[in-house]
Amino acid sequence: QFPVGRRLPCDIYWHGVSFHDNNIFSGQVNKFPGMMETVRKITLSRAMRTMQDLFPLEYNFYPRSWILPEELPLFVAEVRVMKDSDPSWKPTFIVKPDGGCQGDGIYLIKDPSDIRLTGRIQSRPAVVQEYICKPLLVDKLKFDIRLYVLLKSLEPLEIYIAKDGLSRFCTEPYQEPTLKNLHQVFMHLTNYSLNIHSENFIHSDSVNTGSKRTFSSILCRLSSRGADVKKLWSDIISLVIKTIIALTPELKVYYQSDIPAGKPGPTCFQILGFDILLMKNLKPMLLEVNANPSMRIEHEQELSPGVFENVPSPVDEEVKVAVIRDTLRLVDPQKKKRKDTHLEDVGTNPSAKGRLRCITSLIKETNHSLEWGCWATSHLEPVPESSESLPDAGPAAPRSPEAGLPSLCLKQVFPKYAKQFNYLRLVDRVAALFIRFLGVKGTTKLGPTGFRTFIRNCKLSSSSFSMAAVDILYIDITRRWNSMGIDHRESGMCLQAFVEAFFCLAQKKYKSVPLHEQVLSLIEFCECHLAALDEKRLLWGCG
Ligand code: ADP
Repeated sequence: QFPVGRRLPCDIYWHGVSFHDNNIFSGQVNKFPGMMETVRKITLSRAMRTMQDLFPLEYNFYPRSWILPEELPLFVAEVRVMKDSDPSWKPTFIVKPDGGCQGDGIYLIKDPSDIRLTGRIQSRPAVVQEYICKPLLVDKLKFDIRLYVLLKSLEPLEIYIAKDGLSRFCTEPYQEPTLKNLHQVFMHLTNYSLNIHSENFIHSDSVNTGSKRTFSSILCRLSSRGADVKKLWSDIISLVIKTIIALTPELKVYYQSDIPAGKPGPTCFQILGFDILLMKNLKPMLLEVNANPSMRIEHEQELSPGVFENVPSPVDEEVKVAVIRDTLRLVDPQKKKRKDTHLEDVGTNPSAKGRLRCITSLIKETNHSLEWGCWATSHLEPVPESSESLPDAGPAAPRSPEAGLPSLCLKQVFPKYAKQFNYLRLVDRVAALFIRFLGVKGTTKLGPTGFRTFIRNCKLSSSSFSMAAVDILYIDITRRWNSMGIDHRESGMCLQAFVEAFFCLAQKKYKSVPLHEQVLSLIEFCECHLAALDEKRLLWGCG
């Protein structure tokens, strides 16, 4: 450990909390700038809402959510309308303070009027969300899944999912919420940090019993009951990819601000913890994304009253050690060097090419029929593998230092399944426009001049949309977003405000088609004008 940093540069930096733990200018860091802010409850809910506006069906894995206090009137009104249209609908809602963790400050309500807006915790901004009343139960208990996801790179997007995760169990038998049981946290909240205090909590040395189990043990159980486990896995993979697609625009804004292109800086990767709840019909629902998932592999046990000891937790060890080991294998800079040499070798040596092809088929066989048996999903169609991804050969490459290690527990899902998901990456393209007009590097907010230049360069003003109207649009939207008081460090228009303005312009320009088509048309229109402008500038430059 180097708590105050070190002078010599490293290949890999493993920071405890955030990207800003130390100043670094090279190598790779295990945190992305802005990740903590991006996955906070409110920011995540906003990003998911934007995607739900564009693609309601694709993003129905995130519960309907409202942001408090600003959307309280909207929440009350929408619930009233839904109740009026379906009097049999008896919803429950869960209120979660922003920035909270481990179940801190969470409570359930039956009616919007039960929201507590006074008191220290209650006056914090929060998300109120539809409560999933019919979760899948195992042994009559509610449980959730913690899956580990490696975001290996943002540009190009590379995502890996660990093939096993944890299932964390409640400690009281589940009953659907009623006014009487709403406050019973051991029945409704699956947080380990809460349930560990229940007298029913079971520490177990086995991975398939007790209050914390491996996800694979649950899958085995479901499979033996005849459940379609392959479909479940492909739904989970889709959920993870779509969620990361919702987060990338914001992350790219932070990235260019902290690591400006063309200046020396590190590259980033990060292990994320995805909390997922399975509904009774096996549909996975996203609860939250954790930027700093706990990597503890031991738990505290009370030996005698007041005397605690840390004892190993075999379930945590089985899952987490593999995740960290394989993250390091995937980002290993030596591996990249070996890979480059190997590909050069193949390029010039025909017999090596033959050997490589042979290794490929071996890996494919291993991947699809043995190791990744449960992953061989017919629901997702992989992009053909390029020779770039081959030298992971593992057991088949005799000279590789990885030969003695178990096969990777992390499976690439993006770009592998990119073809099915790329159409969702519209906000990414809007963010690229935003970043282009940010001007001076190091900022995350667009000033009024930047916004005007965007409108001019993309030829968006007209006789019916004057530059005065452009200024009013900028002021209105920016003022509202800034009054929500999320980030006071800089003034100007944040990405989410720009996205709102962009959607507004798209709706104005392209009427009577669905929002995602309007937005796509406007993106193409802007990109086309900017490409023409770049070309012109290039010619002038040459002249
Ligand atoms: P925290 O960060 O405080 O753990 P979470 O969003 O993970 O907050 O919520 C805590 C727990 O509450 C979850 O682990 C889950 O058991 C339960 N929970 C959260 N949201 C919902 C929901 N929409 N429906 C049902 N249960 C939920």
